[in-house]
Amino acid sequence: MNEFFKKMIFAKMVIFGSESINLLGRRVALIPIEVILKMEQDLAGKLGKKEAREFIYNWGKYQTETGSKRYLSNKKALSGMFQRLPATGNPSLELGRNVIRFCGWGDIKILTAKKMGNEMVLEVKKSPFALEYLEKKGKSKGPVCNYLAGIIAGVAKATYKKECVCTEKSCAATGIADSCLFELKVTGES
Ligand SMILES: [Zn+2]
Repeated sequence: MNEFFKKMIFAKMVIFGSESINLLGRRVALIPIEVILKMEQDLAGKLGKKEAREFIYNWGKYQTETGSKRYLSNKKALSGMFQRLPATGNPSLELGRNVIRFCGWGDIKILTAKKMGNEMVLEVKKSPFALEYLEKKGKSKGPVCNYLAGIIAGVAKATYKKECVCTEKSCAATGIADSCLFELKVTGES
């Protein structure tokens, strides 16, 4: 089992009840990735691809923007979990990375070599959206991890307390690379 997940259970930050799952005080349910891809596909049929992408992105962002506020308020209790996880040097970002990974949204790595000013490049391995798309539909023509881009933007916004925009530049679903690359910009407006 994921070590971080064990710690979250021990700290009662994840509670599996007899008929409910609670994550940091918020009711959650597991939803298959193919359902999110279907939502985007159906929206695209009604509204067009660009609008569908925006809706999905905004929902992903809403998920972590609202969730991050909850776990950032538990920061003190959580800080002990990150003594051996100095990858970014920022406990809030580490927390975000770990929650995202154990929830199955992918393994995010900040490519610090490309970090500059208010922009950074993130690599995500095993994006469930890219894997699901490849498996069910074959190679895509462009990025498909729009919900995940929103998730990253939401964590960044909650961490920096400034508006952030995340754009997927290259997606594993195209079959070109094994991982997805995202550009994260802190735009500065709060
Ligand atoms: Zn992708």
